[in-house]
Amino acid sequence: MPGFELFGKQERKELNDVLDSGVLMRYGFDGMRNGHWKAKELEYELERQLKVKHAQLVSSGTAAVSVALASAGIGAGDEVIMPTFTFVASFEAVMMLGAIPVLVDIDDTLTLDIKAVSEAITPKTKAVMVVHMCGSMAHLNGLKAVCDAHNLLLIEDSSQATGATYHKIPLGSIGDLGCLSLDFVKIITCGEGGAVLTNNEKYYRNADHFSDHGHDHVGNDRGAENHPFLGYNFRISELHAAVGLAQLKRLDEFVAIQKKNYTIIRDALSKIPEVTFRTVPEGGEESYSFLSFFLPDLEIARKVSLAFKENGIDACFHYYDNNWHYIRKWEHLKDLKTLYPLSKEVKEGLKYLNTKTFKNSDHYIGRNISCLIKLSWTEEEVKLRALKMTKIIKSSL
Ligand SMILES: *Cc1c(COP(=O)(O)O)cnc(C)c1O
Repeated sequence: MPGFELFGKQERKELNDVLDSGVLMRYGFDGMRNGHWKAKELEYELERQLKVKHAQLVSSGTAAVSVALASAGIGAGDEVIMPTFTFVASFEAVMMLGAIPVLVDIDDTLTLDIKAVSEAITPKTKAVMVVHMCGSMAHLNGLKAVCDAHNLLLIEDSSQATGATYHKIPLGSIGDLGCLSLDFVKIITCGEGGAVLTNNEKYYRNADHFSDHGHDHVGNDRGAENHPFLGYNFRISELHAAVGLAQLKRLDEFVAIQKKNYTIIRDALSKIPEVTFRTVPEGGEESYSFLSFFLPDLEIARKVSLAFKENGIDACFHYYDNNWHYIRKWEHLKDLKTLYPLSKEVKEGLKYLNTKTFKNSDHYIGRNISCLIKLSWTEEEVKLRALKMTKIIKSSL
């Protein structure tokens, strides 16, 4: 990861198809487009590869989460349970609908802890949003059981785990709705883009209409289409979809390269007794986009992280000290710094963030380092990297 590392002639070809016809919009202009429907093709390809009935492309991963929630009827005052370790997009997308993000602890999978989820359920809870961080997954069977028992929706954000599977089923197609980001730094990139995945006909239709101003997409005269309900514009363009189409066709190739590189580094680090790895649930197969490991304590993790930086081991993240992925540094959320007034319900609903502590999350994120696994490394580079990392960790213990 990211897919842009291997940008090449396939991506250029798909893009040129769009440029040749000049139709940059995904809907309409049937006569002008020389049969090119890149967004539609990319949706078919997502459905085929991720084994899901419906895929709806949108303009970003953040939009995908908002559209997924809206499609299932989640809005003002509803509570959505989500993890403390994720990208800021998760709570942004929930709050955009006037819903309340309820942050709970993670476990050694680096994703939602089932017990923490159970304890956070209230009469207002409508959904559990699991975020498959850094290429691996939560204990999905357990989470599903909790959701079923309480009649809650399970939403998967698998933006960082496209290509990973759970009991052979691709992530993103397991919950009631799945969300993908196809932004510039993800394994499959469109530049900017996202997708909503679902096996539910109604949610799909809602997502299709909602992401295009409520258009019902019946017939081929946009001006004459009906709008059964209000929507917004979260459309993807044909230019973006074209790039994503070329990239998605290469998903298996990308995952195979990552697995090879990941395995070399993991085997090397496995020889250090003090290093342990994140738990991958039984039946899970990672996308190998990251190698995530734990060091004995926070102090050693900080030391190793710094030494990696000083010695050219790039793209390794100690999320405990990161501004974007872990609750510890989200002062703008805790202090509710918004440009516009928030509803009373959201303000009240987020007060817990000023006092709640997340001891278990601190325990895991404080000791965790996650290293990006790149596609463009040569085997020699990976081996040298593994050697350097081993030396640095050993001398930091
Ligand atoms: C990247 C990412 C998003 C947001 O995607 P954008 O396309 O950048 O809006 C959401 N969730 C996770 C876990 C991500 O990594």
